[in-house]
Amino acid sequence: MNEHDTERIAGLLEADGMVLADDMESADTIVLNTCCIRENADNKLYGQLGHLKQVKQARPDLQIAVAGCLAQKDRDLIRERAAHVDVVFGTHNVHRAAELIGLAVYSPVVEILEQAVEDDHNSFPSALPVRREAPYAAWMTIQVGCDNSCAFCIVPAVRGAEISQPISKLLDEAAQLAASGVTEITLLGQNVNSYGRDLQRQRRQNGDKVALRPLFDELLRKIGAIEGIKRLRFTSPHPKDLRPETIDAMTQVPAVCEHLHLPLQSGSDKVLAAMHRGYTAERYLERLQAARRAVEDLAVSTDIIVGFPGETEKDFEQTLQVAAEARYDSAFTFVFSPRSGTEAAEMVDRYCCPAEVNDRFERLRVVVEHSSRQANQARIGMREEVVVEGKSKKNADLQTGRTRQNRLVHFATSQHLRPGTFATVDVTEAGAHHLKGDLVEVTAPARWRAKIPVAAS
Ligand code: SF4
Repeated sequence: MNEHDTERIAGLLEADGMVLADDMESADTIVLNTCCIRENADNKLYGQLGHLKQVKQARPDLQIAVAGCLAQKDRDLIRERAAHVDVVFGTHNVHRAAELIGLAVYSPVVEILEQAVEDDHNSFPSALPVRREAPYAAWMTIQVGCDNSCAFCIVPAVRGAEISQPISKLLDEAAQLAASGVTEITLLGQNVNSYGRDLQRQRRQNGDKVALRPLFDELLRKIGAIEGIKRLRFTSPHPKDLRPETIDAMTQVPAVCEHLHLPLQSGSDKVLAAMHRGYTAERYLERLQAARRAVEDLAVSTDIIVGFPGETEKDFEQTLQVAAEARYDSAFTFVFSPRSGTEAAEMVDRYCCPAEVNDRFERLRVVVEHSSRQANQARIGMREEVVVEGKSKKNADLQTGRTRQNRLVHFATSQHLRPGTFATVDVTEAGAHHLKGDLVEVTAPARWRAKIPVAAS
């Protein structure tokens, strides 16, 4: 979500006449778009601002802006700690980026809106100009905010209540993306599978007799039917809201990729209740297994927090058990990080011992790595369709592509392959986090076929 906002801020500034600088040193304006999910982001921001203070002393015309959810949360505090910051704006007025930076030429500006305006869908990042890194792949924000209240999470406080973008606007946007050559779309929301519940609520308030249900499966079906969209992804669904209709759409819409990111957070019912997650470990596993049964060749990833206040060794062992049973293809694992303003930050008397937490984190890493390595090794000998991303970051002789299940595949080729090219690769090797293989053939998306030759390796 944050990266998507960054693309939009860059797009707005470009539309206002700015040009992307090669590096920070040569920039006239620097925008730091922040995320406040973890404490580390605070430290990074103030570290960067410390460095930029000297740059600004040498070049007083340099403009520095701080945006994003940390700005939303800290507001005036940012200028109190770093008076050389010219502009502070939050998550609900990204669309004003260029205007605010323009105003700050005269005097510093801090503009934080309390919440997104429900009927102003122009403030959705997807409705703004964009500067995309990859021409073939796009994010679409279908919903902002969150109606849940997970004890560890600052998102509802900074992003507000759930607001869904109307389906007709999203379909127009997806059709425009497809027409511009985008073949892969990722639908974004804090809680994507509750998409549309607020829209239904509004209709009921207006007297319509509609069922109060999410519209996410309908959205998947409609965007998946747009010609040119070959891959459709979404993140993140909430386990408690994962409905059979969504799983049905995953099985029935060819464009929807066989990948489900389903955040577990903890395998202990006691910890899940303290987190206010709204499901038990058993319920989570039932939903996961139902998805695996229905969607052939489904890859599953997750988020897990280690060391939530009050987590005992027994609680953690339950997390290990669930992780082993879930056989995750990959996982984002985090050490609990208290965020001021959240319920969990107040549970100081129940914080876990850091040494124990680090030990648990390592044990969880081993379990997840075991299942992801096994899942990858099972791909050896298979033929995978990948979308080329570009040169491998670790070995410039290799190209990297991504499968429908979101697996990274490295392969050698002497051909220059444009990012977004579809290719077929025979998998020959597997690690815990990637596959390696031999290129079989290249299949360019339709609109490029006239321009580049389709060649076998
Ligand atoms: Fe945060 Fe929970 Fe909402 Fe996710 S579902 S954004 S973790 S409050």
